Amino acid sequence: SSENVVAVVTGSNRGIGLEIARQLASHGLTLVLTARNVDAGLEAVTSLSLQQGLKVDFHQLDVTDASSIKEFGCWIQQTFGGLDILVNNAGVNYNLGSDNSVEFAETVVSTNYHGTKNMIKAMIPLMRPSPQGARIVNVSSRLGRVYGRRNRLANVELRDQLSNPDSLTEELLDRTVSTFIEQVKDGTWESGGWPQTFTDYSISKLAVNAYTRMMAKELSTRQEGEKIYVNSFCPGWVKTAMTGFAGNMSPEDAADTGVWLSLVLSEEAVTGRFFAERREINF
Ligand code: NDP
Repeated sequence: SSENVVAVVTGSNRGIGLEIARQLASHGLTLVLTARNVDAGLEAVTSLSLQQGLKVDFHQLDVTDASSIKEFGCWIQQTFGGLDILVNNAGVNYNLGSDNSVEFAETVVSTNYHGTKNMIKAMIPLMRPSPQGARIVNVSSRLGRVYGRRNRLANVELRDQLSNPDSLTEELLDRTVSTFIEQVKDGTWESGGWPQTFTDYSISKLAVNAYTRMMAKELSTRQEGEKIYVNSFCPGWVKTAMTGFAGNMSPEDAADTGVWLSLVLSEEAVTGRFFAERREINF
C-alpha cells in the first residue's frame, strides 16, 4: 500500500519543497520532511498536522553538511529500511539582493549542485528495490539550459560537452563549476563566457541538469525491480521567498510536476529527462 512508500524531500520547511511534501503526504505516502533548521522543520510539520490533518515524519538535513547527510542516511535506514523517492529541492539564490560576492557564488554552487549530488550519492545505496522503481526528482530551472536562448554558455566546446550525455562525467561537471568559482575569485568571470543572467544560479542548475542525465545513464543498466529513474524539472517562476514572492505561480501549482514525476506509473516512467508543466523540455 502507499504508506509503505517512503519519500524524502530536501528543504521542505517552506516554499515549493513544503508543497511537494504536502502533496506527497496527501497521497498517503510515508513522507519525511527535512530542513536544515530543526525549529523551522518542526513548525512546518505542525502546520501540516493542524491545517491539513497530515502526519509526516521529520529529520534534520543540511545538504551542504556531509555529517548531516550521513546521520540522515543512518536514520532513514534504521527507521524505514531505506527510501523509495528522493526529491532534491533544497536550493539558494542570492540574485535578488543588490550585492554579489564570492561567498554567495560558493554557497549557491555548493548547495544547488554539490548538495544535490551528495544527496544522490548517499541515498542511492539506500533506495529500496521495488517493481515500481525508485525515483529521484531534482528541482532545477530553465535558467540552467545549456542552449538557453538568452542565457547560453559562450564556450562552444564546453556547451557541446555538457549537452552530450556520452561526454558527461562528474569530473567535467566538478571542473566546470570550480573553474567558474575560480574566475569569480580572480574577477575574470565576465569574460569567461558564462551565462549572463543569474549567473551563479544558472551555472548551478546547469550542473544539476547535466548530473541528472549522467546519473540516469549510469543507473539505466539496472535490472527490472532495481530500477531508479532520475529526472529534473523547472517549477516556473514561483511566489516563494526565493523570488521575494514575486513569481506568477503558486507553490501548489509549481509542485505538481515534481509530484507527478515522483509517482508516475513505472510503465510511463522515463529517465534522464527535463520537464516543465509535465511536458519534456530541452536541457
Ligand atoms: P525557498 O527559498 O522558499 O525554499 C528553499 C528551501 O531550501 C528552504 O527550505 C531552505 O531552507 C532550503 N535550503 C537552502 N539551503 C539548504 C541546505 N543547505 N540544506 C537544506 N535545505 C536548504 O525557495 P523555493 O521554494 O522557491 O525553491 C525551491 C527549489 O525550487 C530550489 O531548488 C529553487 O532553486 C527551485 N526553483 C525555484 C524557482 C522560483 O521561482 N521560486 C524557479 C526555479 C527553480 P531555509 O528555510 O533554512 O533557508
